[in-house]
Amino acid sequence: MKISKKVSAIAPSATLAIDAKAKELKAQGIDVAGFGAGEPDFDTPQNIKDAAVRALNAGCTKYTPASGTLELKKAVCAKFARDNGLTYTPDQIVVSNGAKHSLVNIFMAICDPGDEVIIPAPYWVSYPEMVKLADGVPVSLETTAATHFKFTAEQLERAITPKTVALILNSPSNPTGMAYSREELEQIAKVCVKHGIYVVSDEIYEHLLYEGEHVSIASLGEDIKAQTIIVNGVSKTYAMTGWRIGYTASDAKLAKAMGNLQSHASSNPNSIAQAATVEALNGPQDSVAVMKAEFAKRRDYMVSRINAMNGVSCIAPHGAFYVFMSIEELVGKTLHGKVITGANDFAQILLEEAKVAVVPSEGFGIPNYVRWSYATSMETIQKGLDRLEAFLR
Ligand code: PMP
Ligand code: GLU
Repeated sequence: MKISKKVSAIAPSATLAIDAKAKELKAQGIDVAGFGAGEPDFDTPQNIKDAAVRALNAGCTKYTPASGTLELKKAVCAKFARDNGLTYTPDQIVVSNGAKHSLVNIFMAICDPGDEVIIPAPYWVSYPEMVKLADGVPVSLETTAATHFKFTAEQLERAITPKTVALILNSPSNPTGMAYSREELEQIAKVCVKHGIYVVSDEIYEHLLYEGEHVSIASLGEDIKAQTIIVNGVSKTYAMTGWRIGYTASDAKLAKAMGNLQSHASSNPNSIAQAATVEALNGPQDSVAVMKAEFAKRRDYMVSRINAMNGVSCIAPHGAFYVFMSIEELVGKTLHGKVITGANDFAQILLEEAKVAVVPSEGFGIPNYVRWSYATSMETIQKGLDRLEAFLR
């Protein structure tokens, strides 16, 4: 059967694959502690659900403009003014079926064949595949624990070639949880402005930051704002993963191009979810603080327990809901009769022997780490770490 070269070359999402595997084992009655997908375990706040019911009953069941309703674009502009001190107009906003879709639109709109996109590693699994789908070339910029998995402006400068069109910046980061400071971003912005490249700034975890302030690189000056495409969405902040709403803010010409693409590829995102998102952005924000406080507790617990164990360690993440655990010390050692050659092995043996599902770092572009998502109950976290402790002993 014919399958295109482009799609044949795409790897499946490692995060979603682990999540599916854990769910499959659970369905078979096996007691798996799942730390795969980064999906908040909280329910969507009631005021947002009520807004969806109202929209449904009011007949909000038709096509909307392909790039989103004016009401929602205005709510997105108000969010950028309130949270990031940024002024955008509705013609600069495109609303899509999740931030994942927003990112695909971006690379389709900015890449020509052979154009390079710089992706700091470790990176979220989907970035390189999205760039490849758009005929672009992903260029990995490797970082290590020594710099808290952050790249420097000098490193970026060295990676830029005449073919570079964009840098992906993801702060706070999935999978490491690290966030860039204002000073670091200022240095990075200088390099991007000097070379005239886009910054694709994925800020989906902005409200899940437990240390320091979130700074949008676009807020550092008019030059860098003109080159930045901000990606955000409601999945993480409002526990709305299933509703599928994400959005971008960019130069109006680029927004128009992405809107045109979307008008043929998918049309508007779900009309009811758009109405619910207006309430999420304009309504009371207290539930965000409640969820964040709970995530912070889980983070502290995980970090202290992991660092008390032999053979594994982690750096305390600043934000998001992931702990990136090093297994470097275990490589070459034998655990439960099997030699650990890397993170893939480790994750597989941990799942088989201890019934704990984590994501190996190969999919994130570096070796010898596994990612734990703490967007799951404290009870599951305790169970998972007890099992890890027993497994390592
Ligand atoms: N960016 C990052 C860094 C993510 O972790 C995710 C999570 N899936 C997304 C974008 C996409 O989120 P969504 O499509 O659910 O809005
Ligand atoms: N972004 C989340 C994660 O990395 C959800 C799964 C996905 O879309 O990849 O786990």
